[in-house]
Amino acid sequence: MKPTAALSEFRFYYGCTALNFTGTLGRRLSEEPLERLDTPKRLSHWLLEAQVLSAAAPVTAKGLRDAIALREAIAHIARSCVDEEKPPERAVAIVNRFAAPPPVSLKLTAGGTVKRSGTPPLGAALSTIARDAIELFAGERRTLIRACAMDDCGGFYIDDSRGKRRRWCSMERCGNRAKAETYRERWLAGI
Ligand SMILES: [Zn+2]
Repeated sequence: MKPTAALSEFRFYYGCTALNFTGTLGRRLSEEPLERLDTPKRLSHWLLEAQVLSAAAPVTAKGLRDAIALREAIAHIARSCVDEEKPPERAVAIVNRFAAPPPVSLKLTAGGTVKRSGTPPLGAALSTIARDAIELFAGERRTLIRACAMDDCGGFYIDDSRGKRRRWCSMERCGNRAKAETYRERWLAGI
């Protein structure tokens, strides 16, 4: 069995910052989802790895709860897009509330890099994520939002493949898992 740390690696293949954020809850449809934001520090790391902020933000337990509330509101709206239904009002209100404060600001440094910062850092970061979600849900890409076909994954991604037939959040992970399972089933059935 792989150690938990390896299972907790962050993933950034869902197509945009807002959906990458929803991917911090792994195995979304299983009875035991994998919470990758299990401590305030992990959220701080995610914001760095996702390039939302350039420096580690101080995150309190309440800040983590806020972030998870935003994440799940984004996931609810993504689900409504997949189901071609109206977005749930409560989730919309939550996303709008987090999008209201000023987002992260960008500065070009003398070294030719970008510095992403905000005040307070976490509030600005969550605003940036919420605004990314709004752009996604209000734009053309909303029709390209899919839920991964792997039984327990439930990861939301943007299908920007040419034929629009992408079935997995990640071919390398869920796609290969599904292929291995099909192979195993066939082998057991003697096909
Ligand atoms: Zn998946």
